[in-house]
Amino acid sequence: MSEDYKVYMCTICGLIYDEEQGLPEDNIPAGTRWEDVPEDWHCPKCDVDKSQFELMQPL
Ligand SMILES: [Zn+2]
Repeated sequence: MSEDYKVYMCTICGLIYDEEQGLPEDNIPAGTRWEDVPEDWHCPKCDVDKSQFELMQPL
């Protein structure tokens, strides 16, 4: 059974948030689900909040 990790993209700067990878350099461990990323987290590149990210549909 697949873990079915999702990938989100910042619509402002294009930064990718991959649940499988997390953002270890930003204190988000690998495997962290998007809904478990803190609400006050901001894009490390352009500083917008989570609402500016959108789910990327699997190909
Ligand atoms: Zn961004």
